[in-house]
Amino acid sequence: MFLRPRGLREAVEALATPGIQILAGGTDFYPALGDRHLSVPVLDLTAVRELSGIREEKDVFRIAAGTTWTELLATPLPRCFDALKAAAREVGSIQIQNRGTIAGNLCNASPAADGVPPLLALDAEVELMSRAGTRRLKLGDFITGNRKTERRPDELVSAILVPRTIEGPSAFLKLGARRYLVISIVMVAVILEGDGKGRVAEARIAVGSCSAVACRLPGLEAALRGAEMRPGIGERVDTRHLEPLAPIDDIRATAAYRRDAARTLVARALERCVVG
Ligand SMILES: Cc1cc2nc3c(=O)[nH]c(=O)nc-3n(C[C@H](O)[C@H](O)[C@H](O)COP(=O)(O)OP(=O)(O)OC[C@H]3O[C@@H](n4cnc5c(N)ncnc54)[C@H](O)[C@@H]3O)c2cc1C
Repeated sequence: MFLRPRGLREAVEALATPGIQILAGGTDFYPALGDRHLSVPVLDLTAVRELSGIREEKDVFRIAAGTTWTELLATPLPRCFDALKAAAREVGSIQIQNRGTIAGNLCNASPAADGVPPLLALDAEVELMSRAGTRRLKLGDFITGNRKTERRPDELVSAILVPRTIEGPSAFLKLGARRYLVISIVMVAVILEGDGKGRVAEARIAVGSCSAVACRLPGLEAALRGAEMRPGIGERVDTRHLEPLAPIDDIRATAAYRRDAARTLVARALERCVVG
């Protein structure tokens, strides 16, 4: 069974079909099948009108679940979204960015998902919809482990909501084994909010690929409050600030290398936020 509804209500109703799997851009879905044939019912969301585009609302930016990386890049947004846009440019290739959706990246819940650190730094929430209604979860509560989320089988992600609580400059840096089409060894997202007098009022820093789920660095965020927003700010990063990370040794890098690279990348991303 392959369903391709045009309306959100119809899509939510279809989730009652036992074993049905959601399909968006398919750029994680199909590779995960490997050599297997598609043997489950599929709910293709790509024709659902309500699931496309980014809208500015009173308190939030609403990124509809079907928004692709390319659509995100084409949307004018405040500077705090620059990190998310930089991540978008690093997702696979142009072809992958044209098909792949932001919600698909979150629902796939890979520790190396490039969209997660910038959205954690933006304090994003995930909106989930089912026949029973709508609920919201903070992104940090939605992704619970490697390929694990809080989504129930009868729910789809309808939107990602970014509260309009920050506007300052942001940066995203990704380290991989080569320049293009590469899975992250470490990636970091930083947003700095100035106090209008040249100092940091709020810092938000998230690191991915160094733990099962990307995470914020609250110790470093606190230590940066009040710091001067000028070159040299990266020198404030200390190894103690990286304690929330739990990097592993794997085929791409050792844990020690990841920890060292995370420190370097956080420092560079901070510097990037204070120049220009
Ligand atoms: C060659 C290649 C390179 C890649 N490079 C990168 C990279 O550099 N960085 C990176 O982060 N990722 C990369 N990816 C992975 C992938 O492109 C992204 O994660 C993409 O954003 C997934 O979006 P999608 O719409 O294609 O998801 P799909 O493949 O359609 O779905 C992914 C998962 O999410 C679920 N899902 C999708 N939408 C919803 C929804 N609205 N509600 C509930 N569940 C949903 C699906 O059921 C599935 O389990 C790459 C993939 C390929 C093939």
